[in-house]
Order: sequence, then structure tokens, then C-alpha cells
Amino acid sequence: MAGLRRVRYADFAAQYAAEREALLAAMDGVLARGDFIGGADVSALEEELALLCGVPHVVAMNSGTDPLWLALKCLGVGPGDEVITASNSFVASAAAIAHLGAVPVFADVGSDQLLDAESVARAVTARTKAIMPVHLTGRICDMDALRAVADAHGLKVVEDAAQSIGSLYKGRSSGSLGDAAGFSLHPLKNLNAVGDAGFLATGDGDLAERVRRLRNHGLANRDVVVEFGYNSRLDTLQAAVLRTRLPLLPGVIEARRRNAALYRRLLDPAHIYNAPCRDHEFNTFHLFVIQVDRRDALQSHLADHGIGSKVHYPIPIHQQPAAAPYRDRSGPLPLTEQQAARILSLPIHQYLTPADIAYVADVVNAFYR
Ligand SMILES: *Cc1c(COP(=O)(O)O)cnc(C)c1O
Repeated sequence: MAGLRRVRYADFAAQYAAEREALLAAMDGVLARGDFIGGADVSALEEELALLCGVPHVVAMNSGTDPLWLALKCLGVGPGDEVITASNSFVASAAAIAHLGAVPVFADVGSDQLLDAESVARAVTARTKAIMPVHLTGRICDMDALRAVADAHGLKVVEDAAQSIGSLYKGRSSGSLGDAAGFSLHPLKNLNAVGDAGFLATGDGDLAERVRRLRNHGLANRDVVVEFGYNSRLDTLQAAVLRTRLPLLPGVIEARRRNAALYRRLLDPAHIYNAPCRDHEFNTFHLFVIQVDRRDALQSHLADHGIGSKVHYPIPIHQQPAAAPYRDRSGPLPLTEQQAARILSLPIHQYLTPADIAYVADVVNAFYR
């Protein structure tokens, strides 16, 4: 019997094989120095990430979630305020709002799964304080249109940039397009730690300074607490790993873009929709999402052929049990709900070969033939 071809959704073993020596050397350095919290690797990483994102300030943190809610908090979002965001995101976007006692209000998305500015404009009320655009899949939202809504109503903008490191919109970097942004460096993100990690990016020096303090218990120095804070620090070990991987990120992004271009050429557009790229964007393809009929049957068919796939995300946040208290604050979300049943993320990672992509495309096309 011919061996089943396997195409994994993610391939950490391949990444480790490619980077083993550099990773072990970086970790060895941290262990030898005994410098586990803060220190040179964390501040060097912050400077390198600030250059990448085109912002003056980066605060390295424990996750992509803490920069989101701390940014909102420092921009004045509190109990009773409304923040408009997308329901088709990872649950952390809405949780960041809810944990401040604020109300997540969900607006609908366009065919490209990104927040629709007209739907956002309709969701604005006298209580709206901010907009949190989610640059889902590695593509940046239409920030000119969202910025116009924000400016018309005096709203803050916090980008959920967790999936969009390195992405560009009209030549400007993800993370530099609002008042502040939260990035995740989770193992499955394009720039990945070997555990949890993330960072805040901002052009606002006062906000950066306050988040820097809040991430470390609110300490202004070793002994004085200005305001009670949290422990949202990034481990030095993760910072050292991330610094070995950061120079590889352009190659990771190029490989993903190449894979996406090949999928687009091979997948049958009569049955498979993938939102087209826009002229003014540089899409980093954190995810390659197709929209199809009979999605669940296709996913099983792929699994039968050794191909991993995922759904990001099968239950929109407004339909989660946790969102029950907020449900009647949002309008109808027809596209969000339709897409939840039709979206499927195909493998797109940097270790796939053109033959892998061709195999996946063949199996998908054959399912609809
Ligand atoms: C991954 C992700 C987050 C949260 O990041 P963590 O590092 O897991 O806290 C938030 N929003 C989106 C859209 C994400 O994909």
C-alpha cells in the first residue's frame, strides 16, 4: 500500500530541526547568565520589534491578550464604556474589553472577514469609547475607513494585531495604525516563542511608560509602587528565542506568500473562495482561509487524505455562552454567521513544499468535482 502523504497544519518538529543549534545556544546563554526576568534580551527585542513595526515604543509582554486590555485601560476605557470589535476573532479580543467592565459591541465583517467600517459606524452610540480592529489572517483592516469613523466620533483605536506581524497597509506597518496595538508571539503565530509571549506597540510615550510599569506590578523602581499593577512580563528565555527567530521572519512571510499564491493559482474558483489581495496591502498570510460549501465534509475528506486543517473560528464570539450578557448590544451579524459555517484554514506554513500545496489543492478540487 502506498504510504499516506501527510501535510501537517503546523510543523514544530521541522522548525526545531532547522533552528536547533541557534535556539539551544540562545537558551544556554540565558541559563548561564541566570538572567531570567527582564534584562538585556528583553530590551534588545523591544528595540528590534519597534523597528519592525515602525513605532517608537514596544513593551514586551507575557501574551497578546495583556497588551490589548492594558492599552484599552490606559486609553481610559472602563465600566459601562462600549468598544466595537469583530465577533469572528479569537475570544481574547472581546475578553480584553469585558475584563475592564466595558461592553464588547460586535460589528459585522466583509467578504474578506475584516471589520466593515459601515457596520462599525452603525454600532457607534454615545457610550462608544474605542474601536478594536482585528487584522485577521494577516491582512490589515481598511484602516482609512475605520480611522474616519473613529475621528468623526472621537474614538480611540487599538489594533488587535495578533495575526499580522510584518503586514503592511498603504506602506505602513501593522501596529502603527492606531493609538496602540497588541501582538501575540504564541507558538502558532508567524513569529513564535516556545510558549506564551506578546507585546504592545504604540506611538504614545506616556501610554508605553504606564503599560511598562503595570506589566511589572506597577513598580516605578525597585521599591515604589505608583499604582497597583500586574505580572505581565515576558520571560528572558522567550526573548532570547524570539531574537534568534526575528531575522528569519521575512523568509517565513515570503514562504507563506509563495504558498498562498500557488493555492490561488491551483484552487478551483468555481467552488472555492479566497478573498483577493488588495493593491495597497502586503498580506503576511498568518492563515490561508477558504470559504466553501459543505465545509465539515471537506475537512473530514482532507483528514482522510492526511491533510491537517483548522477552523478559525467555528463559533463567533457573540454566540459563545460567555457573551450572553452582551448579545443584545450588537446588531445582526449575517456575514460573520454565514462565514463561521464556511471557513476553513488550509496548511500554509513555511516548511511546505510546492508539491505539498499542489497535493492539498488537488484533494480540495477533487472533493467538489
Ligand atoms: C492569538 C490571538 C490573540 C491572543 O494572543 P495570546 O498570545 O494567546 O494571548 C488575540 N487575538 C487574536 C486575533 C489572536 O489570533
